[in-house]
Amino acid sequence: FYMKHIRNFCIIAHIDHGKSTLADRLLEHTHTITSREMQAQVLDDMDLEREKGITIKSHAIQMNYVYDGTTYIFNLIDTPGHVDFSYEVSRALAACEGALLLVDATQGIQAQTISNLYLAIDNDLEIIPVINKVDMDGAMIAEVKDQIMDLIGCPEEDILLASGKTGLGVEEVLQAIIRRIPPPKGDPEAPLQALIFDSVFNSFRGIIAYYRVYNGVIRKGDQVKFVNTGMEYEADEVGTLKLGLNPKEQVGTGNVGYIITGIKNAKEVKVGDTITLAKRPCEKAIKGFEEVKPMVFAGIFPVNTEDFEELRECMGKLQLNDASLVFEPETSQALGFGFRCGFLGMLHMEIIQERLEREFNQSVITTVPNVSYFAYATNGQKLTVNNPSEMPDPSRLARIEEPFIRAQIITLPEYIGSIMTLCLNKRGMLKNQSYLTPTRVELTFEMPLAEIVFDFYDRLKSLTRGYASFDYTPLDYRESDIAKMDILLNGDTVDALSALIHRSRAQDFGRKLCLKLKELLPRQQFQIAIQAAIGAKIIARENISAMRKDVTAKCYGGDISRKRKLLEKQKEGKKRMRQIGNVEVPQEAFLAVLKLE
Ligand code: GDP
Ligand code: MG
Repeated sequence: FYMKHIRNFCIIAHIDHGKSTLADRLLEHTHTITSREMQAQVLDDMDLEREKGITIKSHAIQMNYVYDGTTYIFNLIDTPGHVDFSYEVSRALAACEGALLLVDATQGIQAQTISNLYLAIDNDLEIIPVINKVDMDGAMIAEVKDQIMDLIGCPEEDILLASGKTGLGVEEVLQAIIRRIPPPKGDPEAPLQALIFDSVFNSFRGIIAYYRVYNGVIRKGDQVKFVNTGMEYEADEVGTLKLGLNPKEQVGTGNVGYIITGIKNAKEVKVGDTITLAKRPCEKAIKGFEEVKPMVFAGIFPVNTEDFEELRECMGKLQLNDASLVFEPETSQALGFGFRCGFLGMLHMEIIQERLEREFNQSVITTVPNVSYFAYATNGQKLTVNNPSEMPDPSRLARIEEPFIRAQIITLPEYIGSIMTLCLNKRGMLKNQSYLTPTRVELTFEMPLAEIVFDFYDRLKSLTRGYASFDYTPLDYRESDIAKMDILLNGDTVDALSALIHRSRAQDFGRKLCLKLKELLPRQQFQIAIQAAIGAKIIARENISAMRKDVTAKCYGGDISRKRKLLEKQKEGKKRMRQIGNVEVPQEAFLAVLKLE
């Protein structure tokens, strides 16, 4: 194969605009996958991906497409659409020369359409705009065409129409890839330079790294070096990516492939690193390499304190195949031994918790998440605070800084008012308002990250009945009046319920949290006082009155099986309870903060 017959491309779109489904059709049309192997969204191979209907990891697959008697190699890289995983998207884009930009014909351009388009433009990709789902009744083809022409300034003829459902337009898409996306450049004689854009964990083979070769050739048996980590390995196996692994003697310039080196730990393989040869290294890494930084921190504790060691082992295994998970041991007075974990975002946190439960059979309690703050002590020392308990005493604190983001919201003009209210309420500042078309407006805010990681997106969606899309990028850290708010149950501080919050919001927040806890804590034989405090000052209080009757008293004497069921149900419920002082606290209570109105 010649490099001129290779095309590397990705599919970018707002979430749910049909990337994975169109990918299915491309695979089918090129006979990469037989109809027997075919299942919907075939590239989403993780259980969780299939269930949630979202792409969590990048996937790469090679197709052969014969056109006009010539066989072309197409490397398709499917990317995750969720903001939590945007670093992976940007690395995947860096491995391509072109992108199919899908826009759902019934939805039009949305926030991630634009943010992904900008990423693609930053990477100098050739953009092929495709209006997808044209089979649907609500398809607004003319309107969406106008939006696209406005956005990327292309002529109307450049826009393709397709349906991942019916297969309409798939042949045109494949031909456009050949005609419009340039083949890779690169020097086969130069020292090896390959960009790692993803890695997966296989329990038998260890870590499998996916890369794009920019220069040189990678061969089986080569002694390779990872430029940024400085580690060296032997290439036990290299090859290209079909539905499974397709071992080869070598993978050449311009191509996309995998390498297996026997590495067992995902931490050693960093997305964005460059692979070169130990004997003949390249001069420098391919692209600016960034460590992926966790955005949200929370504690994970075993429900039963005895399970700590087991949990440690499971977290370690999970980290082997998810390098973006970070954790360190943490001790809580309330919950005992557990881990302080860093996540890319709330979706990532949810995924980790679910995987611990499903794949590792662990019963865990997750505590109040927070972002990472900088605390400057009066002696000039700068501390990174990922946990309310690490916040220095106010008497030693000079100032605190919190992370800010730039938020982009695209919506219909009629919702501008309510979105402004929501964002101002979340300490946002409107920076720009521009009409993309007469019926579509883009609002740009600067906001504290802490205000958007929790329930912001859900609120936005319900406020606008789904007619708003949202995306954000980190900006900087800014000084802010942050206080540590504690929760006391019958006078005992429950450290796992402490939260860091902007002082102007503390009182309101404290009240709501006490009310929510009142709802979530089961009544007991004695009264329970729930208090919120900043330092020694109580800012809110609720009481739960004592329970009078035994629940089982409701059952008529004779019905023993009903009584047993009730007791069993209670026991089931207890599994996720923690005894704190004399109060029983269920798991939901630790995440009550996320459910405040
Ligand atoms: P992704 O998030 O961009 O990967 O989107 P998916 O491929 O998972 O598709 C999201 C939803 O839209 C799924 O329910 C698909 O069945 C549906 N869908 C995707 N493409 C089409 C299409 O061309 N026509 C119709 N009617 N539905 C589609
Ligand atoms: Mg998908």
